[in-house]
Amino acid sequence: MIQKAKGTYDVYGEYGKKLLYVEELIEGLMEKYNYEYFRTPIFESSNLFHRGVGETTDIVTKETYDFKDRGDRDITLRPEGTAGIVRSYIENKMYGNHITPVKAWYYGPMFRYERPQSGRFREFYQFGVEAFGSSDALIDAEVISIPVNLYKLLGLKGIKVNINTLGDNESRNNYRNALIEYFRPHIDELCEDCKERFNKNPLRILDCKLDSNLDIIKNAPKTIDYLNDLSKKHFEDVKKYLSAMHIEYVVNPNLVRGLDYYTHTVFEVEASIEGFGSQNVLCGGGRYDNLVEMLDGPKTSGVGFAMGMERLMTALDYEKIELPIINDIDCYVIPMSDNEKEFAIDICMDLRLNGFIVDIDYLSRNLKSNFKQADRLNTKFVIIIGEEEKESNILTIKDNVTKEEYKVKIDNVIDFLDEKLSE
Ligand code: ATP
Ligand code: MG
Repeated sequence: MIQKAKGTYDVYGEYGKKLLYVEELIEGLMEKYNYEYFRTPIFESSNLFHRGVGETTDIVTKETYDFKDRGDRDITLRPEGTAGIVRSYIENKMYGNHITPVKAWYYGPMFRYERPQSGRFREFYQFGVEAFGSSDALIDAEVISIPVNLYKLLGLKGIKVNINTLGDNESRNNYRNALIEYFRPHIDELCEDCKERFNKNPLRILDCKLDSNLDIIKNAPKTIDYLNDLSKKHFEDVKKYLSAMHIEYVVNPNLVRGLDYYTHTVFEVEASIEGFGSQNVLCGGGRYDNLVEMLDGPKTSGVGFAMGMERLMTALDYEKIELPIINDIDCYVIPMSDNEKEFAIDICMDLRLNGFIVDIDYLSRNLKSNFKQADRLNTKFVIIIGEEEKESNILTIKDNVTKEEYKVKIDNVIDFLDEKLSE
């Protein structure tokens, strides 16, 4: 038997219904925020991710799915959504001809070659947004408000919003230098990856999963102490606007995030739910005022986040949140014999096109097992079509809950069901 590839999973049944519900909620929310739907390719030139995500990130050095296509091109399955959206923004010249700011949202699979464990897959889904063209702190706050409001709509309570700032380029550089000075005498105490990070991107040391409990990491210089006035003001504004949005947050001075491109605001929303496990970051993001330029676009500010869908679904389970998913159907249609099959098919299609959830007997069952099937499908009504019904155009409709039986003219079936189902 062929089994699924390591780190992947199948969606079906109850989970599928819940997932679709959450996806629709996301779609509706993005409509309300007036974000534009983007869909970029699942594979891109490898270069895009090397330059866009960063040569020194774990994602690029250890986690990408790279291959050569038959035309000898270097291709990578996208490990995240931002680089592709930025590429699209630049390639489609949205800085020139689009309404500013461009507020984009996306949803889809991402691929990372990681060690599979709870909350960590090799193929996983992300919902995310990117907003280009405004450096106003309002949009940082608004981007943070999107996951928070999604969790609120879902009724998810155990969440904690952590925010921090890296400041603008000047502040970030000052901070970087301070970190280098600070870590230089301690290099030997760091893990192998961090020794490498020390040379390439010392900020990333603070994001290390292995070393995060070391005192030298906990006592490292804080970004907040290296901000210039502009950067301080930006961060104060973000906090002010978050409060105006009634969003609770905690300033976490050690939060830097794993990607190369962040400036100013960085944030993560974590699940603070008993027993949730260590993969508890539900989403993360921040401002990336250098990224569009790094990918050969004009200098353009940007801010966004990405949310892991699997961890969100797990969080909903942990909090035992009941989603209003549909577990029943409106009608089950039973043709008594082959002679009534086409007549029954016609009715079935007509009802479906008029908005009812309808199923039909596909196995030529006898009446008794058809009623069993009707119960399994949780149908509200059963429509029985025999010779008499076909001749007279008067259908026999049985309420599968009260067991009451009705005779309904074929032209009145839709009105009848509408009325009964709205009771
Ligand atoms: P982590 O620190 O957990 O590895 P990350 O910093 O690599 O996360 P991002 O690249 O910021 O994560 O992705 C945003 C979100 O996507 C994460 O907060 C998480 O919810 C989800 N995510 C990331 N990697 C995976 C994965 N391998 N499987 C499932 N979800 C993931
Ligand atoms: Mg990761």
